[in-house]
Amino acid sequence: MDYLYLLATLLFVVGIKNLTSVKTCQRGNKISEIAMLLAVVTVLAATGNISWWALIGGLLVGGGVGVWVAVKTPTTQMPEMVAALNGLGGAASAFVALAAILEHPVMHQADKCLADTGLVNAISTPITILIGLVTLTGSFIAFFKLGGKKLSHPLKGTARHYLHAAIAVGIIGCSYWQVIATSAAGLTTATILLSVLALVLGVFLVMPIGGADMPVVVSLLNSYSGMAGSASGFVIGNPMLVVVGALVGTSGIILTQIMCKAMNRSLGNVLLGGMGEESVAKDAKDYKSIKSTTPEEVAMLLDGAASVIMVPGYGLAVAQAQHTIRELGELLIKRGANVRYAIHPVAGRMPGHMNVLLAESDVPYDQLWEMDRINSDFKNTDVVIIVGANDVVNPAAREATGPIAGMPILDVDHARTVVVIKRSLAPGYAGIKNPLFERDNCLMVFLDAKEALEGMVKEVKELGK
Ligand code: NDP
Repeated sequence: MDYLYLLATLLFVVGIKNLTSVKTCQRGNKISEIAMLLAVVTVLAATGNISWWALIGGLLVGGGVGVWVAVKTPTTQMPEMVAALNGLGGAASAFVALAAILEHPVMHQADKCLADTGLVNAISTPITILIGLVTLTGSFIAFFKLGGKKLSHPLKGTARHYLHAAIAVGIIGCSYWQVIATSAAGLTTATILLSVLALVLGVFLVMPIGGADMPVVVSLLNSYSGMAGSASGFVIGNPMLVVVGALVGTSGIILTQIMCKAMNRSLGNVLLGGMGEESVAKDAKDYKSIKSTTPEEVAMLLDGAASVIMVPGYGLAVAQAQHTIRELGELLIKRGANVRYAIHPVAGRMPGHMNVLLAESDVPYDQLWEMDRINSDFKNTDVVIIVGANDVVNPAAREATGPIAGMPILDVDHARTVVVIKRSLAPGYAGIKNPLFERDNCLMVFLDAKEALEGMVKEVKELGK
């Protein structure tokens, strides 16, 4: 069994490594799927008291539901699906710990547990229940918020912090009680109270966070679900769960950190709020010299362009214009232009949002360039077309102060001509003015992204006749 555990762990590591690049991520997914199958079968077979029929039946039912959900869910609802799966992962770990206690309460009473299995096992049970159930309810609140439901916390300001602190104190008390309980009744009561408080904490922690910050919260909850899995491995003495849970926990934390860094915000700032749709600067729409243009004029500009960089942002997803942008790109390539797509790490509203959209419309991977790789090329570019992006191209980030100060941006203003497609002068997610729109080399197309791109496609085709 140990060799199979080792093999599954190695496959997980290789799978995660492959997930770090767009080119290899599909392979990474497949390797991780094989690792998960191997891990599930090995862990269940290792318990020794499960029939092969039950195992195969469980795999078929669970796998069938997974395939059905994945096929039915449109790409636009991916963030919700990820949130729901995190929640179920947390619940699964919590149920492992709860089942361990309910099945053998005597084993978990302090005198027996501390003496036989030691402190680590004793404290990992309340930790698993706590993190697992916080992940469950927190993820479902995130699920509804991502789906556009307005769920706000019943309390504001300090009162809210007092409530959370009171729940935290209750959780510490119940966890301690669970560890030191010497009777089955005490153990069961402590476990039930701890579970209820953990469920309530998950709801209250995520409720006050703005809808647009949910992707960061979801990646944090993803990490929690891994930690809960790892802790549950200690509860039932299974090394596979410990290792794989730790892998998920740490990769979730790394992703959360990458996103916070790319947004130039601390995790505390995300969790306690402070930026988003709610906060819009007073001068956010205060522009003086704006030059607007039409898709027809942009098509003529593109006619003479040897190099074009498309910059997709949140508006591309809103307009569902991913197929049209690819069509325009292909037309320009046929006309001899060098066309690339510049991808900012937090463009859109979920990690990898632009990669997912452009992959859906079959834009070849080699045309997708990450920010660090393409930034020095803007100065040699004839035309940059920004499609529904705002904060990720805002030169205000180069200033010393302001909500996005220090946030790495795409240096689009260095190109010869910049075309910005958006419906109005409304600000982006950060709620601030974008001085790019007033630059001499910037032209604005005030239209829905799909409509503007369709207009450009039509005109470029006309020019080709
Ligand atoms: P922004 O939110 O900065 O800007 C999007 C722009 O798209 C808006 O200015 C809007 O202008 C325009 N837009 C909206 N709908 C349409 C449409 N149908 N057609 C054309 N334009 C449209 O997006 P960015 O992608 O530039 O930046 C992402 C922001 O989100 C960053 O601040 C990032 O930190 C944040 N964020 C990202 C997360 C992630 O995981 N990627 C998670 C959480 C936050 P108008 O209304 O005038 O059309």
